Amino acid sequence: MTSYVAAIDQGTTSTRCMVFSHDGKVVSVDQKEHEQIFPRAGWVEHDAEEIWRNTREVTAGALAKGDLDDKDIVAIGITNQRETSLVWDRRTGKPVYNAIVWQDTRTDRICAELEALGGGQDRYKATTGLPLATYFSGPKIRWILDNVDGARERAEAGDLLFGNMDTWLLWNMTGGPEGGVHVTDPTNASRTLLMDLSTLSWDESIAADMKIPLSMLPEIRSSSEEYGKVRQRGALAGVPIAGILGDQQAATFGQACLSVGEAKNTYGTGNFVLLNTGTEQVASQNGLLTTVCYKIGDKAPVYALEGSIAVTGSLVQWLRDNLGMIATAPEIETHARKVEDNGGCYFVPAFSGLFAPYWRADARGAIVGLTRFVNKGHLARAVLEATAFQSREVIDAMNADSGVPLKSLKVDGGMVGNELLMQFQADILGVPVIRPVVAETTALGAAYAAGLAVGFWAGEDDIRRNWAKDKEWAPSMDDAAREKTYAQWKKAVTRTFDWVS
Ligand code: ADP
Repeated sequence: MTSYVAAIDQGTTSTRCMVFSHDGKVVSVDQKEHEQIFPRAGWVEHDAEEIWRNTREVTAGALAKGDLDDKDIVAIGITNQRETSLVWDRRTGKPVYNAIVWQDTRTDRICAELEALGGGQDRYKATTGLPLATYFSGPKIRWILDNVDGARERAEAGDLLFGNMDTWLLWNMTGGPEGGVHVTDPTNASRTLLMDLSTLSWDESIAADMKIPLSMLPEIRSSSEEYGKVRQRGALAGVPIAGILGDQQAATFGQACLSVGEAKNTYGTGNFVLLNTGTEQVASQNGLLTTVCYKIGDKAPVYALEGSIAVTGSLVQWLRDNLGMIATAPEIETHARKVEDNGGCYFVPAFSGLFAPYWRADARGAIVGLTRFVNKGHLARAVLEATAFQSREVIDAMNADSGVPLKSLKVDGGMVGNELLMQFQADILGVPVIRPVVAETTALGAAYAAGLAVGFWAGEDDIRRNWAKDKEWAPSMDDAAREKTYAQWKKAVTRTFDWVS
């Protein structure tokens, strides 16, 4: 009998279940999108019960499509949109509020109040590796406790639980109110602004600043060990859940960036560049985050430097859904190919302020350089170029922090099917861009974490061996042209500052 590992990839726009074989190939996939809820400008929510329903559907769906049985699956890994925060009742399993999504900026006032306690934006940086920003979970929990009727009292009485999407799914899969396991891993915990990066435990003084009872927080275990078995009736009953990695760390793992100095860039809703720094925590001087990359069982944690960009693929979605300029995401490439260049037009998508390397909550989006000449094709190009320029900015920061310039970049995620973007990325970075055969590295990374825990894969060498190149783009732009257009981009970015106060 052939055995497989299943991964649940609970992403920002959809939930997928993917089944992988021992050689790291996709055997079966099922996927379902969920609603994006925008109650006000700057607010983004998800219905956690819809996500849990979709998870059950896609796991059953993936097994059915692959003609597989529960007994064929030896372990399950979970990977998830990070930071997105949920609070629910431990007795009923009901969320007290929708999940507040990572892009949501409603906590800007809470962040400003915490900054004012002293130390400014870097108040918790030495402990957590993160600047104070609306992006992270802690202030989102605080918002729920402050704004949902009765939530604070219930939390203080020990009735409420917090989790990111990994914890929410694990708790439900392992029995929910009847014995559900309330656990997370250090990659997710390292995005809450509440975890000490050195000890991998919750920091009591930060939790006290944010008025978050410690009893709500999940236990932090490793990224690769058996947490429990599926106890829900239905698909995968009895199968151990044995891996948890936040989506970007999972992609890093799935890309086999397992040695110091290896980096990947994932092109999804946002873009996230992670550089493996080994067992050393590198403190950024250039606006990057220090984060946990993975912790395999009892081994020492491996850290990463991260450049997080809030809006890349979601700008393409915006063009599709808000402007109706394209019917599908890939159509943007057709328009962009009708013109030679951006026609002088730059689009800075600071929809959620700007994340790395700026961390400016006061920024909002801008299209600059418009003339009567600019047409739909130029705008399409400017949209795609925005992803590449933002990636260059964080990679410049990474090169400055590490002192070792990146020699090539491994890429993955939904946008890497866009060949025009990949060529422009190589051009604007001046280094080759490499796409692997399995572009679903996020799910693959979670599968690896789970499969390692149960002995399905023997070690990291198996992961390295399974990685294979699909296509490589070499830079073809001359240095002067590259630096000229990049300088224009930098200037465009400054136009978005000081927009909201
Ligand atoms: P996530 O995991 O964040 O939900 P995915 O990795 O599935 O996202 O990537 C989806 C994103 O990629 C969407 O924002 C979509 O607009 C964008 N996208 C998908 N295909 C293309 C394409 N061919 N060109 C440009 N953008 C694309």
